[in-house]
Amino acid sequence: MATTEHYDFVIIGSGAGGGTLAWKLAPSGKRILLLERGDYLPRERDNWDTTAVFLQGKYSTDEEWRDRKGDEFTPEQNYYVGGNTKFYGAALLRLRPEDFGEITHHGGISPAWPLSYQDLEPWYAEAERLYFVHGQAAEDPTDGPRSGDYPYPAVKHEPRIQQLHDDLVRLGLHPSHLPVGAMLDQEADGSATHASRCIRCDRLDGFPCLVDAKADSQTVCVDPALAQHPNLELVTNAKVERLETDASGRQVTAVVATMADGSEAQFSGDVVVVSCGALNSALLLLRSANDQHPSGLANGSDQVGRNYMRHNNMALMALSREPNPTRFQKTLALNEWYLKGDDWDYPLGGIQMLGKSDGIQLRAMAPRRVKWGAKLTPEASLETVALHGVDFWLSSEDLPEPRNRLTIDDDGTPRLALDDENNTEPLKRLRKKFESMLGDLGFDEHTHRRNVYLHEGMAISATAHQAGTARFGNDPESSVLDLNCKAHELDNLYVIDSSFFVSIGAVNPTLTIVANTLRVGEHLLERLG
Ligand SMILES: Cc1cc2nc3c(=O)[nH]c(=O)nc-3n(C[C@H](O)[C@H](O)[C@H](O)COP(=O)(O)OP(=O)(O)OC[C@H]3O[C@@H](n4cnc5c(N)ncnc54)[C@H](O)[C@@H]3O)c2cc1C
Ligand code: SF4
Repeated sequence: MATTEHYDFVIIGSGAGGGTLAWKLAPSGKRILLLERGDYLPRERDNWDTTAVFLQGKYSTDEEWRDRKGDEFTPEQNYYVGGNTKFYGAALLRLRPEDFGEITHHGGISPAWPLSYQDLEPWYAEAERLYFVHGQAAEDPTDGPRSGDYPYPAVKHEPRIQQLHDDLVRLGLHPSHLPVGAMLDQEADGSATHASRCIRCDRLDGFPCLVDAKADSQTVCVDPALAQHPNLELVTNAKVERLETDASGRQVTAVVATMADGSEAQFSGDVVVVSCGALNSALLLLRSANDQHPSGLANGSDQVGRNYMRHNNMALMALSREPNPTRFQKTLALNEWYLKGDDWDYPLGGIQMLGKSDGIQLRAMAPRRVKWGAKLTPEASLETVALHGVDFWLSSEDLPEPRNRLTIDDDGTPRLALDDENNTEPLKRLRKKFESMLGDLGFDEHTHRRNVYLHEGMAISATAHQAGTARFGNDPESSVLDLNCKAHELDNLYVIDSSFFVSIGAVNPTLTIVANTLRVGEHLLERLG
């Protein structure tokens, strides 16, 4: 084993959490090590190729995990510098203020966070600046108060989506511009300026950006921090296997990793920050069980790996009577029933646009798709169906449930049990509500479930929005982390990905991960002076 190198900070994982933290801490001059199990994602034509990315899953992991029954599945995870943000759709929304309080849902209680929206608001603002968020304030009635405008103007709707916006307004609803993180400068008509890094293409959602214009954590955090701060060191192909502690169990003394050549290396830090994604972070803590922490590091509460949440969501395609040649489709959101249905006392969730699907993506479901599309387009080639398709994402909240948990089998394989799919009624109602409007919005009256990314529907492999596996709180009996995301039971161990979420709300999680990381980063800078 290589000898231990000592750092002020060791950060494990370079996604939204770890990459952002490296960026935040780097100007301090402290010695920082960023360990990443993956490599840089190759820049090649396949980055934007539907067959390579969606059908062949060229860039996704081939790990096999087990579900509750023992059946194998491959989780939707991407192990590269930048983590899953290399592939994300960059829809960067704040949680609503109400999400931080207790909310009664149809299926149970969404518990309160130990922080309020106002506590996080300054960090949300900084996160939006860092991740190039384009948006329009004061449009969405459920938005919380803001200390300032969005740092970049909203991405303009293309004509079919503008029409959809206008039709929704005509129905008395309040559509808003979806906040999106991309390095896009727009002409008056919304097209990319000559100097714009983002070319406003149709590959934002689910594809890595070939021209590095998506605000992912590699592009906006890791690479700029490495370029400016020699005190930050990135080691790729370093998969952290376990954390070791001193005899008291209160200090992490070694970070043990398997390197590209199969050798084992050890690193140590005054502070060790885990940010492997909510599932892999929980795995790392569980794998680090020792005499002082027999059921997993920091797991005296028995909450590590539990309370897994991932949203109840659904990708739908509606067929527009008019063609939909939109390229950058992720520009519109509708949160009308986020907090309460108009004929129901419980929250329903939100609707937002997805990336535009193409004929190749539809091929996977060709027979059904052609039959369905034939109603609208007699020749119904997949390309024709894709041209008329408009893609929507319906998302509602699932609730933390201790039985929904990650454990490790005796042979070391992760086992993810989703014993309790809860609070599913709101999504059904949201779909009904949405479908009831389709005729008025210029669509065929039926929607079709769309494959999203690499899986169909909410299979167990749908791990894109993972959260809750090491929640934070004031009570060490019922939470893993304290308010600064430090493990209650250790003095130098922090976890800063979405593991800390107490509830998940119904909006995409990444802006909240980034904002919280900036908040915790400030605490860490104070801690090390
Ligand atoms: C297709 C897709 C679309 C999405 N769209 C959106 C969206 O529009 N908006 C949104 O808010 N969210 C979206 N998400 C979710 C978003 O990507 C995640 O919320 C975000 O990336 C989580 O950040 P993280 O730092 O917690 O984890 P990750 O980004 O997963 O980063 C974790 C990092 O840790 C590394 N790692 C893991 N284990 C180890 C180990 N043992 N040793 C060393 N390194 C390790 C991984 O390789 C990875 O780089 C999407 C996700 C996917 C997959
Ligand atoms: S829309 Fe812009 S950011 Fe997204 S993939 Fe295309 S060029 Fe990259």
